[in-house]
Amino acid sequence: MTEKISFRPISGTVLPRFAGIPTFMRLPHLAVEQADEVDIGLIGVPWDGGTTNRPGARHGPRQMRDASTLMRNVHHVTGIRPYRSANCADLGDTSVNPVDLIDTLDRVEKFFADVHAKGIKPLTAGGDHLITLPIMRAIADTGNPLGMVHFDAHTDTWDRYFEGHKYTHGTPFRRAIEEGLLDPKRTIQIGIRGGLYTAEDKDWGLAQGIRVIEIEEYFDLGPDKVAALARDIVGDGPVYVSFDVDGLDPVYAPGTGTPEIGGFSTHDAQKMLRGLRGLDIVGADVVEVSPPFDQSGATAVVGVTMMWEILCLMAEKIGRDTD
Ligand code: MN
Ligand code: MN
Repeated sequence: MTEKISFRPISGTVLPRFAGIPTFMRLPHLAVEQADEVDIGLIGVPWDGGTTNRPGARHGPRQMRDASTLMRNVHHVTGIRPYRSANCADLGDTSVNPVDLIDTLDRVEKFFADVHAKGIKPLTAGGDHLITLPIMRAIADTGNPLGMVHFDAHTDTWDRYFEGHKYTHGTPFRRAIEEGLLDPKRTIQIGIRGGLYTAEDKDWGLAQGIRVIEIEEYFDLGPDKVAALARDIVGDGPVYVSFDVDGLDPVYAPGTGTPEIGGFSTHDAQKMLRGLRGLDIVGADVVEVSPPFDQSGATAVVGVTMMWEILCLMAEKIGRDTD
């Protein structure tokens, strides 16, 4: 493959990082239909209509793009240089309809279906956690469903809210399993904590075979053992990485709608992500950054740093290795 210099971020040594139009990681912005040579597409889904309590994640992608101008080109621990290993671009935001949830699910799925049809792996900034469902509908093969490494304080496998409503940010993974998109036996959830609506809230996912690592077990094992466990559970098949920033302790990520105290640290999250090198990550997202709850922007910096960690994993696996 020929190297496309146009897929490189604008360096902060050339144009100061506070200048210019903020795209994800300062990458070029392309429409999906122009993105023929792109391997990894960074995408925003500015949507929080699935939020059951405190909203604001619709503003996540814009603030995360701005914060992403802080990222650089070489991973300081692994040495991965993602922009030499893969063609990356900002593919913009999906269409959403802020007054119609079902219409939005269709719009988001259509956008990601077009991305998938071009062979592009999506790395997405949410948005609330419901956005993962239409992404999975677009990219999963029901004949070979996705495994998932899921960082979150919540399982998001609850069933219904508000007298029967099936689609909220508390339900995407129950729907994804029901729809055959996600293989529960190749799914691990890390950091689960907080009170439940009913004692049965825990049982459904466990009965499906999901490996649930509650935060108490997480602190017993530590990040390296948990990452090794995640690798064993998802195996060699296609994997989705979904990172809800409320899995982090709210000390690190206060700007989110459903904070739960007693979470893992940013550094432990980075260690766990680095422990996932080599997996076949076919898509990933970082969700639930809600700027109105953190006007310092620190949570957006955390969110895009997790995107950077995941981008390095995805790019290394693609491995074009241009100079
Ligand atoms: Mn979640
Ligand atoms: Mn959560």
